[in-house]
Amino acid sequence: MKPLAIHGGKPVRENYLPYGRQSINDDDVEAVINVLKSDFLTTGPLIEQFERAVACYVGANYAVSFSNGTAALHAACFAAGIEADDEVITSPLTFVASSNAALYQGAKVEFADVDLQTFNLDPQSVEKLITDQTKAIIAVDFAGQPCDYEALRKLANKYDLTLIEDAAHAIGAQAYGQSVGAISDMTMFSFHPVKQITTGEGGMITTNDQQYYEKLVRFRAHGVTRDRTQLIKDEGPWYYEMHELGYNYRLTDMQAALGLSQIKRLDQFIERRQTIARRYNKAFQSLPTMTTPYISPEVKSSWHLYVIQLNEQQLTTDRKTVFKALQKENIGVNVHYIPVYWQPYYEQLGYEKGLCPNAERLYQSFITLPLFPSMTDQDVNDVILAVNKVLKYYEVGGAT
Ligand SMILES: *Cc1c(COP(=O)(O)O)cnc(C)c1O
Repeated sequence: MKPLAIHGGKPVRENYLPYGRQSINDDDVEAVINVLKSDFLTTGPLIEQFERAVACYVGANYAVSFSNGTAALHAACFAAGIEADDEVITSPLTFVASSNAALYQGAKVEFADVDLQTFNLDPQSVEKLITDQTKAIIAVDFAGQPCDYEALRKLANKYDLTLIEDAAHAIGAQAYGQSVGAISDMTMFSFHPVKQITTGEGGMITTNDQQYYEKLVRFRAHGVTRDRTQLIKDEGPWYYEMHELGYNYRLTDMQAALGLSQIKRLDQFIERRQTIARRYNKAFQSLPTMTTPYISPEVKSSWHLYVIQLNEQQLTTDRKTVFKALQKENIGVNVHYIPVYWQPYYEQLGYEKGLCPNAERLYQSFITLPLFPSMTDQDVNDVILAVNKVLKYYEVGGAT
């Protein structure tokens, strides 16, 4: 057996393979350059075109673009009417933005536990947290697998809650025959470079509700409206009114151009992600030292992340050592996510360890392997080789 790189052996590959990265081609570059030579750098004609393209892709009536996904989530919380003393239920197994958006509105965040198989919100755990103060559920489609929206929709209807979907991982995913983006009251997408398609920074909310739509549009631009039908008075053609405390959360036309060019290849990107995930599944299915991700038969995942669980009982070492060993093999592993309420800021708000035992247990066993569309077959082979090499070495009763 070849010595591990962490012990001074030769790494599986020469250069570092990141866990995710964007795919930019000449068409993307040209689209952005064309905007730079045009009349509008920020809000111009491409904003609406990009919004229409996303709405059309997911089958929603409306789409509103934002400067990033976090701003989009903030806007969704605003449009849902979330304010001080309201409660919002979300998952702890997510990026901090999911719950921060509720905090921005002064709400209290309640963390429900996740399902051990799908890593998504457990609807039973959600229901237990619902009170008269609860205003919304922010469901997170972890790694690109949609949540159990049959159960979450029932809860939202029963208790009159707004269902907001953090689909930062899940553009192109489907659940129960519907596209993500047309399922929840409002769905957020992120176009950060590691996500399925990118605009550098960027985000979007899709919705079928006209009232949400109008609030989202105002919130993105300082709470200002120029719509003559909405004005309280009208002093003339220059006149506009600020009705709410909004922000400057606008996307630029340069970014919209990139998004429009990228969305043409979205299906292709997701197909490549699926192919790589299938190859990983096949290569790893018989390893006793890890568990490959489970995908519910009701859904189609968009495969943002490939997250494995280490089986500690089968290993002679801990997650940290396996993680470092894989990095030394030049495989850019990552961990998604540290339970949000473990963050010092949240601890200081009074959240305590032990709140969501499933999420905590999962976090401690998780490793994210590289997965992005421009990975070559050789890159995929390298990951498989390195994972086998490291896990075989640390397997109980193995080749050590
Ligand atoms: C990326 C991400 C966000 C935030 O999106 P930005 O565009 O980076 O602001 C929110 N939630 C989850 C789960 C994410 O992965």
